[in-house]
Amino acid sequence: MTQDLVDKYRIDNNRVDKCVENNVKKVGCFMCFILIISIGLTACNSDSDSSEQTVPTTLCGPFSAWESSDYVLPYAVDEEFEVNQANCSGFGHSGFWLYGYDFIMDIGTPVHAIRSGRVVYINDGITDGVRSATNLILIQHDDGTVALYSHLTNAGVLVIGGQWVIKGDLIALSGDTGNTGGLPHLHVSLHPCKSVPGILGIPQDNCYAIPFNFSNTDANPKGLEARKKYRALPF
Ligand SMILES: [Zn+2]
Repeated sequence: MTQDLVDKYRIDNNRVDKCVENNVKKVGCFMCFILIISIGLTACNSDSDSSEQTVPTTLCGPFSAWESSDYVLPYAVDEEFEVNQANCSGFGHSGFWLYGYDFIMDIGTPVHAIRSGRVVYINDGITDGVRSATNLILIQHDDGTVALYSHLTNAGVLVIGGQWVIKGDLIALSGDTGNTGGLPHLHVSLHPCKSVPGILGIPQDNCYAIPFNFSNTDANPKGLEARKKYRALPF
């Protein structure tokens, strides 16, 4: 990944997209909901006035003990990737998407399940570089929570609907579909149910992302931090 592209992404994140911002804040914004549907999953690059979006660290969470977290990093053991956006960062990770992680990855990087569960939704067939829709996987865990893996590459979904996957299984290849800001990366977030924006016909107002952290890497009591690299340790 070139530094220029990383810098461009960060600059892009400073652009204001008020309608998308309002969409994640105002359930009643019907037109914005339609916009969300039309532009695909916008987890990672919807933007807003940072003065409204910045959340003090003390209000970000609470997180469970990271050492006993049910979740492992979404890539192979011994691999290491940098977190771009993390929790409560404003920009794309605000409102509905307040919690979640963007791992900077070249297209085609293997993506592994962060927790065991059943595949409840997939979307594939979108070409990298297309911004109007994204390839994604939703996996529901035994406590009802759902993990979202998005921006996957074309033909990058390696599981099928209904399939049970084990924590650490290879499930996908990362990519650059949907609203990535032009920076190929993997977005992962956790939701209390499977309703996330961008999935046609499913309401989006009751499954806001929730905080989680990872057990197989450096200490992350408040989740992973942006601009840091994290190596996946054996688990
Ligand atoms: Zn993201």
